[in-house]
Parts: sequence; structure tokens; C-alpha cells
Amino acid sequence: MERSGNRRSSPLGTPPGVGPMTPRPFRVRRRRRETRDTWTLELDPVSGDSLDAAPGQFTMLYAFGVGEAPISVSGAEGGRLVHTVRAVGAVSAAICAARTGELIGVRGPFGNAWPLQEATGGDLVIVGGGIGLAPLRGAIYAALARRSEFAEVVVLSGSRTPGDLLFTRELERWRRGGIAAEVTVDRAEAGWGGKVGVVGQLVASARFDPASATCLLCGPEVMMRYTALALIERGVSAERIYVSLERNMRCALGHCGHCQLGPTLICRDGPVYSYEQAAQLAAVREL
Ligand SMILES: Cc1cc2nc3c(=O)[nH]c(=O)nc-3n(C[C@H](O)[C@H](O)[C@H](O)COP(=O)(O)OP(=O)(O)OC[C@H]3O[C@@H](n4cnc5c(N)ncnc54)[C@H](O)[C@@H]3O)c2cc1C
Repeated sequence: MERSGNRRSSPLGTPPGVGPMTPRPFRVRRRRRETRDTWTLELDPVSGDSLDAAPGQFTMLYAFGVGEAPISVSGAEGGRLVHTVRAVGAVSAAICAARTGELIGVRGPFGNAWPLQEATGGDLVIVGGGIGLAPLRGAIYAALARRSEFAEVVVLSGSRTPGDLLFTRELERWRRGGIAAEVTVDRAEAGWGGKVGVVGQLVASARFDPASATCLLCGPEVMMRYTALALIERGVSAERIYVSLERNMRCALGHCGHCQLGPTLICRDGPVYSYEQAAQLAAVREL
């Protein structure tokens, strides 16, 4: 399986003598509420260097006494590790509930990165559905920091309701930085004057050149499939569309096999795959 991205799993942030299965303690420096059930945590290492994680990679976050979950890096602000977590079960709820000053265990970073280098010189199209915008947030900030290296940069964000939209306070900053950011919701609520419809529907009218565009998608699998088909319909080739796949994970080191999908282990070979690869994997998913 060919690998996407420019970074590989590296328990390299791990100090000498500490194995890749041992979480390192990080302290919650700041937490902010994004939506009803989603929080962003900024984490500082208790000792040693912070982790050098690239957009697209993930860490295993350990809520002490509760358990561990794979969570993508949503940014690296001032050398700090940033994660955006939606509370869906015991572990993610405990992580979201961690207060400033409390400790979280961190292993990683693991997995590959969004292939931003492939987009250099052309257009970059980033599409997030729901919490799927979190693993893309780091790529958005990387594009802002290197804005002149891309032609058009487009961000399309969709959620179920207006109250579920992520990073709404950051949208203006992205727009001021030269990103065309559009949002849509599946179901409008009172006071919503924006677009209504699934995020893939924004592809048809978004301003980008299909011949030069590299597209990064993250969200529910049905959203990624529908969006990829809309991009292909506009003329983007399947090799230039990248998706981030999620499966239950335990070790994140390619040993336990929990995240196996056909011939690939998502923690080791992914989570970022070209849509061409992902479509082949989906075809053999019952293996
Ligand atoms: C590579 C990777 C990156 C991820 N990045 C993020 C992120 O940035 N932010 C975030 O909020 N979540 C992210 N997730 C999902 C997160 O890991 C799960 O929500 C978490 O493990 C749930 O654990 P829990 O104990 O809280 O809930 P559980 O009790 O384990 O599960 C609650 C519900 O969520 C479902 N679920 C659990 N794990 C997954 C999974 N991996 N994929 C799909 N559904 C699942 C279960 O089937 C169940 O319906 C990521 C997952 C992967 C594999």
C-alpha cells in the first residue's frame, strides 16, 4: 500500500527509556468549548519537549483511570499540542471534561500527514463534515502560514445544525488570510441565514481549478464518498483527493490489528489515504 503524506509514525517525541506504549503526561493549559459536545484542549508537556506532530497525524490520548482514544492533532500553537474532541463515550467525555491544570497522557504522534506539499503551486480544497474539520484544522493553519505557495485555498465545512458548526470564531481569520471559507448545515434552526444542504453540495459552485486542485476530506464515510464523487464530477482525479479513515484502535503501533482494513493497518499506513486507495479498501472491507 502506497503511503500518503510526508510524515510517518514516530514515537520520537518519547524521551529515552520510555516505550511507545507509555503515555507521557501533558498538562491542560487551556480548554475552550467549541459546541455543545466538543472541546478544544491545548496541552503542554509536563517535562521535555512538546511533540512535533504534523497536520493529519494523531495521538493516543489517555484519560487517567478511564482509557485511551485516538485523537487527531487539530493544531500546534506555539509548540503546544492542540486536540479537538467530541464527547461520544466514556473516554472522549473524560478528555473533554479535563480542566485547566489537569493531566492527560499522550502517546505518539502516529500515522501519516495530509500531503500539503502535493498541493503547492495549485489549488487546495479542504472539506470537513462535523468533527471531521478537527483533523483538517492544522492543515488550514499550515496553508494560512504558507498562503503564497497555493493558488486558491477553499474550506468547505458542514454540520448537522448551526450549533454543531466547528471553529466558527476562526472563520473570519481564515477569510482575512485569503481562504474562501463556506459553511452549510443539514438542518437550519431559527435565526440561521446561511446555506442549507450537505457539504458535498458546495463543491459544484466552489471556486477552484479541478486540474490543479488537491483535496483533503474528513468526516463520516458517507460524506467523504459523496464529496469525492462531486469532486470527481468536477474533474478532480481520484489520486488528488485524500481522505482520513477512522477505525477503532488500540496500540497505534501496527501490532494489535484492531484497525486492520483489508491489507492495511490504518494506524500504520494511514489514517490519510488517497480516495483511489480508500475506494479499493472499501471494496474489500469485509475481508
Ligand atoms: C485516527 C483517528 C483520529 C480521530 N480523531 C478524532 C478527533 O480529532 N476528534 C474526535 O473527537 N474524535 C476523533 N476520533 C474518534 C475517537 O477516537 C472516538 O470518538 C473515541 O475513540 C471514542 O471513544 P469513547 O470511549 O469516548 O467512546 P466509545 O464508547 O468507544 O464509542 C462511542 C461511540 O462512538 C463510536 N466510535 C468509537 N470509536 C470510533 C472510531 N474510531 N470511529 C468511529 N466511531 C467510533 C462507537 O461505535 C460508539 O457508537 C478519531 C479516531 C481515529 C481512529
